Amino acid sequence: KTVLAVKNLTKIYGQEANQVVALDHVDLELATGEIVMVMGPSGSGKTTLLQLLGGLEPPTEGEIKLRDGEWQQFYREPQISHYRRDTIGFVFQFFNLISALTAEENVALPLILAGESKKKITTEAKELLQLVGLSERAKHLPSELSGGQQQRVAIARALIHKPALLLADEPTGNLDSRTSKDILDLFVKMRDQLGQTILIVTHDPYVATYGDRVVLFRDGRMVDEYRAEQIVGQ
Ligand code: ADP
Ligand code: ADP
Repeated sequence: KTVLAVKNLTKIYGQEANQVVALDHVDLELATGEIVMVMGPSGSGKTTLLQLLGGLEPPTEGEIKLRDGEWQQFYREPQISHYRRDTIGFVFQFFNLISALTAEENVALPLILAGESKKKITTEAKELLQLVGLSERAKHLPSELSGGQQQRVAIARALIHKPALLLADEPTGNLDSRTSKDILDLFVKMRDQLGQTILIVTHDPYVATYGDRVVLFRDGRMVDEYRAEQIVGQ
């Protein structure tokens, strides 16, 4: 079942003579509970894809469809901020936690900002910290956590409002290989236990082996696609 689909997604930066077509009429359909890896050389449009799907930038052109809804023009202000808040969770290479807040407070932050009740916030933050295996560190500050633990907190924070799509930009780019594997196993757990749909941008072929599907970008276009079976078989 489709959780989110886009078509003709296009982003052109700049004006007239120095225009850059960063993304060129991309069609992409994401099924519930799949992990999709986005690969491609530098400048191929991966970051732009993530920014558009995440509602951080408006596309030049494109349509979007959520679950079994209708195709519609991709969101603009003011809907795009609702979309960003309700539909998308974000995980970054450098964790982006708030250093003055504990692990639990970082996880709870999206719900606090949404004005949820204190009871609901505490319960759900604790549940998610448990799911990512960090219950014992709930009261620790980011500076008291390892890189892998910080990324777990960031993943819990990204999932607390149950986003349709979790987007991750080089989520293991700042971690050693052992810790990277733990984080990738955690993404798999989120897929298997929550049915979470996850899209990960990576340049690391090892990371890509964790995908159910790998899509390859070049010059703003999706030029190839592999299924997990094909990748493992190589
Ligand atoms: P990747 O993430 O695959 O390296 P990007 O999406 O960052 O690729 O970039 C795709 C193309 O769009 C590149 O040519 C890049 O220079 C250009 N680009 C990206 N962001 C901007 C921007 N804000 N302004 C102008 N050009 C941009
Ligand atoms: P990555 O390392 O993820 O491929 P880039 O280094 O291509 O990312 O770009 C990082 C950010 O800088 C992008 O999110 C984009 O918005 C911006 N950017 C990239 N290329 C340009 C450009 N030519 N002009 C202005 N901003 C750019």
